[in-house]
Amino acid sequence: MSKLIIANWKMNPATVEEAVELARATDQEQLIICPPFIFLEELSKIIDKGQLGAQDLFWEGDTGAFTGEISPEELKNLDVTHVIIGHSERRQNLGETNEMIAKKIATAIETGLIPILCVGETLEQKEAGHREVVIQEEITVALDGVESDQPIYIAYEPIWAISTNPNAEPDKPENTLEVISFIKKVVQEVNPEILSQLKFLYGGSVNSKNASEFLQHDEIEGALVGGASLQPEELKKIFIEINQI
Ligand code: PEP
Repeated sequence: MSKLIIANWKMNPATVEEAVELARATDQEQLIICPPFIFLEELSKIIDKGQLGAQDLFWEGDTGAFTGEISPEELKNLDVTHVIIGHSERRQNLGETNEMIAKKIATAIETGLIPILCVGETLEQKEAGHREVVIQEEITVALDGVESDQPIYIAYEPIWAISTNPNAEPDKPENTLEVISFIKKVVQEVNPEILSQLKFLYGGSVNSKNASEFLQHDEIEGALVGGASLQPEELKKIFIEINQI
């Protein structure tokens, strides 16, 4: 069964030499490496089996007065095929809103980049029983009116499960499946035309011990992996696990 691993090298590694070494050690067919922007050019020259993704993009044009931003066109020109949009760290640390995320999704699709939309609730929202309300809002705003004849990935990443957060622990596959059914229901209401384009990923403390528990389910087509994607040996074990599914 062919599953996908999206490697989110968040602000890692520190040098281009280390980035090249890590990409060489991990490059493989079902892997999409999403490095910091500054490494994209160098990695586009060496990634051979896998593909290249970006961790974000800006929603406007190919050139323009948007200091510090990176355009979808610039990404395309570096052989980037996928782009993570709305990661919780950008929502929380940089104030990215659902409306900004919606513009980024639309621009990615127009440019021919495959979006990986991240959604998920905080621990407080989960404990208050607000998981569905939060996800409904994130999905509705991001996907309302979107048209696409290419896949749209949705990564369910409960924020409390992301390994860098205090006391993080992975979600339970049953919960992720429940969220996927819920998202499908929401999309059925707001934009049924794109339902068939949706593909679902799980993210949050994925490692070689738990990857196949999630990915053995047909509905979960891959994983968004942070910490473990920086460890070639661990990533290798994840692929061994999921390729036995
Ligand atoms: C992430 O960075 O999106 C992520 C899921 O990180 P980790 O795998 O380290 O929890």
